[in-house]
Amino acid sequence: MLFDNTQRAYHLKTDRELYKAYYLFRLISNSTLVTVGSWFAQLSLKLRLPVAPLFKATVFSQFCAGLNKEESLELVNKLESYKINSYLHFAAEESKTEEGMDISLANTLETLSFSKESSSLPFTVFKATALGPMSLFKKKGDKIDFTNSEEETWKRVLNRIDTCCENAKKMGVNLLIDAEESWFQDAIDEIAESLMEKYNKETPFVYTTLQMYRKDRLEYLKNLHENATKKGFKIGVKLVRGAYIEKENSRALQLGISSPICESKLMTDLNFNAGLDFILKNLEDCSLFLGSHNEQSVKRVIDWMVENKIEKDHPHVWFSQLLGMADHISFNLASEGYSVVKYLPYGPVSEVIPYLIRRAEENTSVSGQTPRELSLIEKELKRRKATVSSS
Ligand SMILES: Cc1cc2nc3c(=O)[nH]c(=O)nc-3n(C[C@H](O)[C@H](O)[C@H](O)COP(=O)(O)OP(=O)(O)OC[C@H]3O[C@@H](n4cnc5c(N)ncnc54)[C@H](O)[C@@H]3O)c2cc1C
Repeated sequence: MLFDNTQRAYHLKTDRELYKAYYLFRLISNSTLVTVGSWFAQLSLKLRLPVAPLFKATVFSQFCAGLNKEESLELVNKLESYKINSYLHFAAEESKTEEGMDISLANTLETLSFSKESSSLPFTVFKATALGPMSLFKKKGDKIDFTNSEEETWKRVLNRIDTCCENAKKMGVNLLIDAEESWFQDAIDEIAESLMEKYNKETPFVYTTLQMYRKDRLEYLKNLHENATKKGFKIGVKLVRGAYIEKENSRALQLGISSPICESKLMTDLNFNAGLDFILKNLEDCSLFLGSHNEQSVKRVIDWMVENKIEKDHPHVWFSQLLGMADHISFNLASEGYSVVKYLPYGPVSEVIPYLIRRAEENTSVSGQTPRELSLIEKELKRRKATVSSS
């Protein structure tokens, strides 16, 4: 099986790094430890305790590319030598003041400028609510009229977003828009659609993100495609299952409304597959950016490509995994000639701690993923030991 080659998957990791990854995944597979660890991390951030070296040596080195541009580009170049592309994201969470949002824009533009120094950075990304007040995204989605001053603030949000697009377009770098909680997503969808209409006339350059754990997303995708066909633009879709399941379900429960999320993992998987199939059948005017660590999902696309004689590096099919996760998929796919893009967050340790907490929590809550990581690392450690003892 393509994904079982652990030698390829962990080529970049020394024995020491591999042991470290093993113990780290062991730790984060324990939900009590993760809860206590997250609490401690948040507290140490508040109290400004000097815990950065501890994080740097553990979770940071597994899930982040580096502290700055130089360290991150070093990893980008290493990955490039294994035919893996990257997309970088300055993972700090700025304050939601106008100044904080301008800083977020400046960080996004700076990260984008790194693409000048590498040919393996074909994508950039932004999170819409980093560039505008969450309250306005919610209000817009609820179709509540803005006050005059909110109108002015919203214009600045749209300007920041358009500046990202203009700059990415100038540099020939594709642009991904992350998907967020459903109560912000209607406004984000509206923005993403207008950007695709404006920028995707020739090729899918702007990519929206669809979370297929949402019951309504397949219908949304079909309508989006119909609309795009009528108006003459291409669609780019980052297809994911969705990261905010607990938040979504508990909010729905609190408000006494029906949850927007599928009732079971099986329903999410069926919805996800239907979304995948729809995009693949419309590959002429849709581009797929598959953000998943699920081997079956990746295999479904590969099988379809083989069956339909689609070239491995078709410009409308991309596979993506997060740094520090599912290397068995990324490295093995890339070595077979498929287009792989690794998501590389970077930034000062204290600023990326919220991202690291989410990574640890997700690895604890997503059943199946951490055991798979652990068993693959174990397999590789055994293989290395056997190689040493036989030589
Ligand atoms: C490159 C990349 C980019 C990403 N960008 C985004 C983004 O912009 N926005 C975002 O929200 N997420 C994003 N994610 C995270 C993604 O949505 C998933 O949370 C994560 O990838 C795990 O899903 P999977 O397909 O890899 O694995 P799997 O293990 O097959 O799926 C786990 C997922 O299934 C769903 N699920 C689990 N249990 C249930 C249940 N009981 N009922 C219903 N559904 C269930 C959840 O979505 C869960 O995350 C991204 C992931 C990657 C790799």
